[in-house]
Amino acid sequence: MAFPVQRLRRLRSGEPIRRLVRETQLAPSQFILPLFVCPGEGVRREIGSMPGHAQLSIDNVVPECEECLALGLGGVILFGIPEHKDEMASGAYADDGITQRAVRAIKKAHPKLLVMTDVCNCEYTSHGHCGFIKDGDVDNDITLEWLAKTAVSHARAGADVVAPSDMMDGRVAAIRKGLDAAGFSNTPILSYAAKYSSVFYSPFRDAAESAPQFGDRRSYQMDPTNSREAMREIELDLEEGADMIMVKPALAYLDIIHEARRRFDVPIGAYHVSGEYSMVMAAVEKGWLDLERTMFEVLTSIRRAGADFILTYFSKIAADLLP
Ligand SMILES: [Zn+2]
Repeated sequence: MAFPVQRLRRLRSGEPIRRLVRETQLAPSQFILPLFVCPGEGVRREIGSMPGHAQLSIDNVVPECEECLALGLGGVILFGIPEHKDEMASGAYADDGITQRAVRAIKKAHPKLLVMTDVCNCEYTSHGHCGFIKDGDVDNDITLEWLAKTAVSHARAGADVVAPSDMMDGRVAAIRKGLDAAGFSNTPILSYAAKYSSVFYSPFRDAAESAPQFGDRRSYQMDPTNSREAMREIELDLEEGADMIMVKPALAYLDIIHEARRRFDVPIGAYHVSGEYSMVMAAVEKGWLDLERTMFEVLTSIRRAGADFILTYFSKIAADLLP
């Protein structure tokens, strides 16, 4: 039976029927807002390439989190900008590091807000790479020790979820082992399992002050051409004990999200990254695109591809506009 019996337009005739048959839903609980925490007091340093976002000192992050809670967001993920950077990324795993202090302050004020922490070293190293440099490249196995220490220090501060983003081999196992040994066997790991070496991170590097001082991150982040390798990354992270996995970036990698959804029965997050946000905001500023419609179409595409939740700079605006 085809036309004229079949008429797909019947179910598109008005908003009530469209609403009923909608396959993909967006809800505030699916959004995680990335926050950049910096030292000082009363600091709100706008990030030029990311309109609406700023580096915030802890006293400003806490009220921001209150807003996130009121909007019903799924949670926040913290990136720390330390006072000092050094070759050993010591600020990353210091008990009084910027992220650790921020977590304590947030959890104290808003215990019900889900707080995730990004576990990496690039914001904390003087050279801006994600680990210990040996012979001009990041040394995998020494970096694992830093990552495990960092994750434990975040859990100790009260982080609900730790999210390693470094792309070292074996980091999930190292972190799981570290957490379990320190008594945090209930702290879940969200691994940035398939993280690509992407140009779309550029605005973030201004925000987190984490641009590499030499070279690039192609010896550890994934080559954008590879899809099968992403499935291997995910599989290995799950074997090592990841509870949830993430694909990053999102929009240029919808096929990866989709394939991961098809293969793995674990919660999947997608990081809709800074450049993907900035690109929309720039077009909106120029009057070329409508913010609300563009934002919802983009976020819907990420969910439709198979992501359960989205780390996005649109979290607050989207949650505010959702019915
Ligand atoms: Zn990093």
